Amino acid sequence: TPLYSSAASDVYKRQPLPAAEAGREEAYREQTLRRLQLTAVEMGVTAVLGTAVTLLVRLLIPNPEYVWLRVLLLPLTALFAYLITRAPTVRLYGAACMGTIATISFSSYLGALGTERPLMYFLPAAIIIVLTTSFFWVTLAQWVGGTGVCYAFFLPFVFDHTASRTDTVFSLLFAAMALVTGFVTYMRIQDYQRRAFDQAFQLEELSVTDTLTGARSRAEFLKQAETAAVKARITGASLTLLYIDIDHFKRLNDGHGHAAGDAVLRGLSDVLQHALRRSDVFGRLGGEEFCVLLPEQGEDNALALAERLRTLLAAIPRPDGRLTVSIGVASLRDGEPVMQTLHRADLAMLKAKQAGRDQVHLAD
Ligand code: GH3
Ligand code: MG
Ligand code: MG
Repeated sequence: TPLYSSAASDVYKRQPLPAAEAGREEAYREQTLRRLQLTAVEMGVTAVLGTAVTLLVRLLIPNPEYVWLRVLLLPLTALFAYLITRAPTVRLYGAACMGTIATISFSSYLGALGTERPLMYFLPAAIIIVLTTSFFWVTLAQWVGGTGVCYAFFLPFVFDHTASRTDTVFSLLFAAMALVTGFVTYMRIQDYQRRAFDQAFQLEELSVTDTLTGARSRAEFLKQAETAAVKARITGASLTLLYIDIDHFKRLNDGHGHAAGDAVLRGLSDVLQHALRRSDVFGRLGGEEFCVLLPEQGEDNALALAERLRTLLAAIPRPDGRLTVSIGVASLRDGEPVMQTLHRADLAMLKAKQAGRDQVHLAD
């Protein structure tokens, strides 16, 4: 028989915490938005410069139409491009991007109006706009909207019956190719973005989580304890630590194997994570030692909570009886480093051990 049963090895495949999972999509969008906003500056500058250059070229043609209207559209394009970088939400970002595309497309439309073969004049703009903007959309709806805005200015020329059949077929062919290429590019980039984000997210989760129990890792817990202590000193609020150690854990391992010990560690972690508030931080310091950080809780509340946790944990079965823990409680004192508070909580836990285990002790 294998050393670890399959049920026990499931312990190692813990899913991410529900709270982390819920915030994940939001985090992805937020991160994508911020990253795209950085590149959007280039897009805005390119759009304005590109339109300015085409305007200059058009001046070479006798009697160009709407040149001044198109010049007036330039600052509007620039304004939308600027709004892209300021947009606080994905939705407003999409709106600003579409505004930029609308002004550029409208300008191209006006430029094409005065020519003999407007379809041929608008086509390069349609292709370039659709292809370059495929990099900038956060959602599929935005891709559809942005591409739609650009092609909306193209359609009047397509349905213009004075255009030659060759021009119509030719431009439709190229527009369709740009559409397909733009869509594939958009999908590819989405895929890369999503994969890069997922990897970074998993790495981040792994670095702050204890893989066996799902509790915060030791390093992460100590970091959060330091942060909470700084905050408590600024606000003058109290901060209390619980140091939890399982009683006679070695006996369980030695008598029933490490898989049984691991199952108990997981059980304890699950019970604690359900019993604690979101603002509480629960970490595994190592082995069968856990610590809870209780922001804005004084000694009295913390003692009551520790007693409640002790009772809850006693419901966890272990092959050699019921689970008992010893808990030390210590509150942050004025001017005391939080590591010292942790040490006092540890000493209080040791006193609980000496006094017979399965009890809560307050630090001196
Ligand atoms: P006390 O009541 O005094 O706390 O005794 P104890 O047996 O709980 O404490 P001791 O420090 O002697 O034993 C801790 C044991 O925890 C020893 C080690 O093998 C075990 N341990 C540490 N990490 C793990 C782990 O990840 N899984 C399992 N199953 N056991 C672990
Ligand atoms: Mg122990
Ligand atoms: Mg121990």
